[in-house]
Parts: sequence; structure tokens; C-alpha cells
Amino acid sequence: MDLVRALVRDVPDFPKKGILFRDITPVLGDAAAFRQVIDALAGRYADRGVTKIAGIESRGFVFASAVAYVLGCGFVILRKPGKLPRPTYKATYALEYGQDTLHVHQDALAAADQVVVLDDLIATGGTAKAAAELVGMAGATLVELAFVIELTALGGRERLRGLPVFSLLSY
Ligand code: AMP
Repeated sequence: MDLVRALVRDVPDFPKKGILFRDITPVLGDAAAFRQVIDALAGRYADRGVTKIAGIESRGFVFASAVAYVLGCGFVILRKPGKLPRPTYKATYALEYGQDTLHVHQDALAAADQVVVLDDLIATGGTAKAAAELVGMAGATLVELAFVIELTALGGRERLRGLPVFSLLSY
């Protein structure tokens, strides 16, 4: 993962002052690095009986759809409010200021599904916790919450205590 780590770009004060944004777009733009990320994630879940990869809007979609393709799984989208046309389950989570909500179509996951949730990055873990709740509401089994990047100082793993968490790169 050295190549991938070298390509993640630190952008200070984005989207607002005090935030060090970890920009993964150079990883996506490098064929070898992007392949390494997808191969590492797909390899981890190849023999785990996974039936669905659920991506969190929107950077999670990029990784989750590719991993789903490699594994031959279905791809499920976890979306922000107002995007999904059919009945949804929803889970609300706290942001630094205010709150946000994730939705999943009620018929996107079934009780028999073994689900990996994928996002580009875990910070405080709030988004991922909501995603795990959606998998639970659908009655499906959460195999793991997986991330390309984990910002360890922000305590996401502690917030998700009791849930299986995996990340490729820690900062
Ligand atoms: P959280 O709910 O605090 O774990 O935040 C995770 C979500 O916010 C992910 O979808 C990330 O894409 C985004 N995010 C949070 N902090 C950062 C950061 N420092 N750099 C890039 N993305 C971030």
C-alpha cells in the first residue's frame, strides 16, 4: 500500500478551516494504485460468503462498485436524503454541526444477505454507524465495515465498538 499512501493528498482547511482533507482522487487516477486498492479489498472478502457490497455516497460508490464487480456480488447504494425513489430505511447521525441521514431502499437487502459496507474514509465513525444500522434494519448480516483510510485520532473504531471494522491505511 506504499504507492497508495504516497498518492493520498493532504489538503489543509478543506472543506472548512481546521479540517485536513484526505483527497483520494490521485489514487483513483493512478491505474496501479486504484487496482491495488480494489484487489486488496476484493481479496479480503473473496472467501467470506459476501453477497452484497454496500457503498456510502458518494466516494464509497467508486470503490464499492469495483469490488462488487470483482467479487461477483450485488452493489447496493446508501444515499443521502431525497435521492432514492422507492420506500427506504433511514438512519440519522450527528455531524460536527447538525446531523445527516443515510437511506437504503427497503428491497435492496434481504435477510439472507451477507454485507460489506465500504467507504473511502472513516473519521468519527458516525456515517459508518448509520450504515451498519441500515443493514440491521433490513435484517441482513454485516460482514464488515471497510475503509480505504482510517483517521485513528478521531475515534471511529471506538464509536463502532462491537462491530467488525477494517481499513487499508491508517493515519
Ligand atoms: P465520519 O462520519 O466522521 O466517520 O466521516 C466519514 C465521512 O466523511 C466519509 O464519507 C468521508 O468521505 C468524509 N470525511 C470525513 N473526514 C474527512 C477527511 N478528513 N478527509 C476526507 N474525507 C473525510
